[in-house]
Amino acid sequence: MAEIRVQNLQKAFGAFVAVKNSNFVVEDGEFFVMLGPSGCGKTTTLRMIAGLELPTSGQILLGGEDVAFRRARERDIAFVFQLFALYPHMNVRKNMGFPLLAQGMPKAEIRARVEETARLLRIDHLLDRSVSGLAGGDRQRVALGRAIVRRPKCFLMDEPLGTLDAEFRDLMVNELRELHNRIHATTVYVTHDQHEAMAMADKIAVMNHGVIEQFGTPRDIYDHPATMFVADFIGSPPMNFLAFEGTLAPGDRSVTVQGAPVAVPELREGATGGHVLGARPEHVRFDDASRLRGAVYGTEYLGTQQIVTVETAGGMVKARIPADVRISTGETVGLAFDAARLSLFEAAGGRALA
Ligand code: ATP
Repeated sequence: MAEIRVQNLQKAFGAFVAVKNSNFVVEDGEFFVMLGPSGCGKTTTLRMIAGLELPTSGQILLGGEDVAFRRARERDIAFVFQLFALYPHMNVRKNMGFPLLAQGMPKAEIRARVEETARLLRIDHLLDRSVSGLAGGDRQRVALGRAIVRRPKCFLMDEPLGTLDAEFRDLMVNELRELHNRIHATTVYVTHDQHEAMAMADKIAVMNHGVIEQFGTPRDIYDHPATMFVADFIGSPPMNFLAFEGTLAPGDRSVTVQGAPVAVPELREGATGGHVLGARPEHVRFDDASRLRGAVYGTEYLGTQQIVTVETAGGMVKARIPADVRISTGETVGLAFDAARLSLFEAAGGRALA
């Protein structure tokens, strides 16, 4: 069992709290992604799980045992760094076998294990090549091979694709997920890239200022963002926000935005004061009958679709619509929404109300 259970984990550097009371569970065999902007505490959380940083307080249970204050090498974890930390003077075979040699494994067993791992990563034809002559993607595969050859309980990866160019990165995203589907090792992966997170994760924790704002499947997080921060951070273009004032009662099915009635999902709770209506661009439609109106500000043609930006009295709204709809800049349009897919937030604090 390689379940990772993080409980009330906290890390302060002097007066600055980098990780605030963090709680999450990575189930055995899951691919878990910590996602958030630079400085939000992802790496610090990962380093605490790895044993490279001591928590200020809290527990890290690995397979049920609290390892929070145990040394890194007593945790049976493999850390894949962003840099291709390979030994340039050794060939691929020696690089991959090195961790096993350091463990004192017999040579024949090392050979078998390295070859099996190389086949898994489809680099068996490169085993006798020097690592210094390899292309970026192959080097990264060797680095991965060196991490998985030990068959650790879990993998920790900190932006492992960060230095690759976009084309290689997409390829490696697919390869990493495919590799995971084959070996099912519990994985914690840190990135600030939402596309990587959405493509690979079973579960995602979205972090901001040391706090986990939401923990869930990629679908949960995209469809039901728990906060405005999450709604804004995930999705490109991000969710549209339209501010409005008023009193909302639990069970309400309609709100008034810029004088126009807008049907919304049933509210879990009521609230008074400032609110924000959230709509993903793909849930915005043009409807002449709508009283919520604006002028087309610009369009971005994407081949099969277009993103149309509309300037309303309350700010810009982006709509993702089919590419064949003819629309001109300056034209006045009515905006309607897919009621069931809207979000509502409290303006103060940004918590979701529906
Ligand atoms: P990045 O992608 O930029 O690494 P991150 O989300 O991984 O971002 P962390 O590296 O965990 O963020 O850092 C979180 C905060 O803690 C940052 O503000 C950082 O400056 C601070 N921090 C990290 N390590 C230390 C340290 N050893 N001493 C003081 N402050 C630190």
